[in-house]
Amino acid sequence: MKFENQPSYSLGQRGPNKDTLAGESGNVRLVSQSTLGEINRGRVLQALYDNGPKSRAELARLAGVNRTTITGIVQPMIEEGLLVEGDAVPSDFKGGKPARPIYFNPEAPMLGAVLLLPGRIQTCLVTLSGDIKALTKAQFDPHGDRGAFLAIIKDTLSATLSQAHQAPFGIGIASGGMIDSDNGVILAVNLAPVLTGLHLVDILQAHFSLPVVIDHHPRALLVGDRWFGPGRGQQNFAAIYTGEVLGGAFYIDGRVYRGLAGSGGELGHTVVQIDGELCNCGKHGCWETVAALPWLRREAARLGFANPESVTCARLVKEAAEGAEAANGLLDRYTRNVAFGILNLQQTLSLNSYVLHGDIAGGGADAAERVRQHVERLVKKRPNQEISITLNGIGEGHTALRGAAGLVLSSHLKLVI
Ligand SMILES: [Zn+2]
Repeated sequence: MKFENQPSYSLGQRGPNKDTLAGESGNVRLVSQSTLGEINRGRVLQALYDNGPKSRAELARLAGVNRTTITGIVQPMIEEGLLVEGDAVPSDFKGGKPARPIYFNPEAPMLGAVLLLPGRIQTCLVTLSGDIKALTKAQFDPHGDRGAFLAIIKDTLSATLSQAHQAPFGIGIASGGMIDSDNGVILAVNLAPVLTGLHLVDILQAHFSLPVVIDHHPRALLVGDRWFGPGRGQQNFAAIYTGEVLGGAFYIDGRVYRGLAGSGGELGHTVVQIDGELCNCGKHGCWETVAALPWLRREAARLGFANPESVTCARLVKEAAEGAEAANGLLDRYTRNVAFGILNLQQTLSLNSYVLHGDIAGGGADAAERVRQHVERLVKKRPNQEISITLNGIGEGHTALRGAAGLVLSSHLKLVI
């Protein structure tokens, strides 16, 4: 890993175009000395996220710079309380001096996080090493009054933030629906019209006097995977979420892919069935129409399952393991329908690594293995190409909250995502 002079990009900014240096209208900006300092800080913090606690000597080796340079970057972060030195541990090298590993200070300011889904709000504080504190939950009427919703989200966040020992670095929001992450606006939420058109970032920023960022819920899952989960240290992977809706997000060549104003990655609305069933979005044949909970429950009802409205992937896995043929068959079709979307992604982007979230992840290793086998059968692979399908084991809600916090890490601490 090299920590050299490379521009970092905040939410929504475009990636580098190496062939031009085009000034205001172009894609590349030169960086000032102070910006360079922030970037170097970000790179060191990122190395700690990717590798765990490391001594100055190890960080210098990872960065390909000398120890004096690393000390110049790390020491101010220790003095301001962001990082802390652990107890000395014996060196790996024969005759080497004991080294003191450096990692995040548990007393450092935390990150505020909000998960906003139709009818449900969760807020919490997240430590720099990813621990969740002061979790607070509330419900709201997705078809209700805008003022009532704002009162609920402000109260819920206040209850969480009041438990912080010092002001958090900022608040990150993971929201369902169509999000303009550049302008902090929730453009539309099919299942919660009360949120449609809401300038939530401006409102919360003014109310709490803290920096606020927002992104699409599946993209927050991806960020949670990247900083704190199975995406740690990876350069290419996608997160796939199934629930009442289907969503996903991409990490490509070491960057979160957002598309224009965060509009990229509407995976649920890629078409898998031309002229197929009507989707919530008003179009036909979207992936979401055959690989999310509403489809699963409709099929369960059609096949005569008891309590079809409570069918989940976890329930199908359990019943299939007990020998229920119908559950086994429906589970096979569900995992195959999920695999079809992954197949299209694999053929387009060749990411080779997919992390499952939500209902499909609730089916555990059994569901993941079925998805993997379907992808293996469907995809046109190159020789020796391995495709991994993994689960984020800590649960979708916590991953999204950690990911929401991760959005603040990248915007405030200049970590590169
Ligand atoms: Zn759709």
